Amino acid sequence: MKVGVPRETASGEQRVALTPDAVAPLVKSGLEVLVEAGAGEGAFHADAAFEKAGARIVPDAARLYEQADVVVKVQKPAADEVDRLREGTVLVSLLQALANPDLAERLAARRITSFGMEGIPRISRAQKMDALSSQANIAGYKAVLIAAETLAKFFPMLMTAAGTVFAARVLVIGAGVAGLQAIATAPRLGAQVWGYDVRPAVKEQVESLGAKFLEFDLGVTDAEDKGGYAKALSADASRRQQEMLAEKTKEFDVVVTTALVPGRAAPRLVTKETVAGMRPGSVIVDLAAEAGGNCELTEPDKTIVAHGVIIHGPTNLPATVPVHASQLYARNVSELLRELVKDGALKLDFADEIVKGACVTHAGEIVSDAVKAALAARKSA
Ligand code: NAD
Repeated sequence: MKVGVPRETASGEQRVALTPDAVAPLVKSGLEVLVEAGAGEGAFHADAAFEKAGARIVPDAARLYEQADVVVKVQKPAADEVDRLREGTVLVSLLQALANPDLAERLAARRITSFGMEGIPRISRAQKMDALSSQANIAGYKAVLIAAETLAKFFPMLMTAAGTVFAARVLVIGAGVAGLQAIATAPRLGAQVWGYDVRPAVKEQVESLGAKFLEFDLGVTDAEDKGGYAKALSADASRRQQEMLAEKTKEFDVVVTTALVPGRAAPRLVTKETVAGMRPGSVIVDLAAEAGGNCELTEPDKTIVAHGVIIHGPTNLPATVPVHASQLYARNVSELLRELVKDGALKLDFADEIVKGACVTHAGEIVSDAVKAALAARKSA
């Protein structure tokens, strides 16, 4: 069975789906690994390193797609990449299929068996495959570095002969994987940190990292679903939340927002009025930019200044830390391959939670109920 690693084609994408360290055990397990020439360049892995790990370098994407039985990618395939996949090929990638059900439809039409890394269930057995976590962790860390770089102030408190400088105050809204990493990173630079999340269960985790937890009474008793994800708030609770946050954000130099609700647009937490109320020179880093932004003024992949507040809307921070992002993602992908391939052949057990969660299309059909529903909703819209 041949596993192919193409060069990523999305603009700014520096990651690669398998690193040489991840290739070696796959080759040892009997798989053949083909790597497109230059695929590892962005993450500083030379072709020679892949060859040393037992992979074969193929000169271009056309030849890779022609031969691969399994294609592993980071970013969802572009239209021409979908066309290149041979019928019956297995594709493993971040697909964001809930937000891109049309892509799922095209993959089904081409009879591709596709797995979206974002669909790996958050169960203990699948932790090693959890790419959402491995990449969100990096985004949370980098968001704080961007804030520190942009803020026209020190992060740490300093007592000097020329006077005292007070520590920057950082608020992290949304304390999932990215938010908790941001909460852990900001104090390392000397800032004072507060965390906030709609799920009350998170309070303990925020406090265990030495941060303070902001609490608002939104009158919501069921903020969390069975999978541990936040549920969307009612219009009324959402408005109350915006008002309470508007009051609080004024006190902060930096606001990092990471709030997401799966399969929906990002909750709007920071309105333009809230931004107008913040001190000029304050910084917002909106990690929900790709899902529409937690801040009303965020523009994806841009940095703007509104009312003197600097607002960053990065959509792919993991790609800016490509060495470790690739290392961790490659481990996630290899572990999934180990689960799917037994004795050199693909063995799909749809009763298995991992296969059921991650498989989007198979045998000409969309098999994920959630993606089917997203497609139906899109068509009826
Ligand atoms: P996410 O990216 O879906 O959302 C980020 C955070 O935003 C969440 O903490 C969410 O509660 C919060 N949020 C959503 N709406 C909000 C609002 N209106 N106001 C404030 N905050 C809001 O979350 P994630 O990082 O993917 O984590 C989701 C859950 O999965 C968490 O419970 C996490 O602990 C859990 N998890 C479990 C495992 C595991 O067991 N293997 C691994 C990773 C994450």
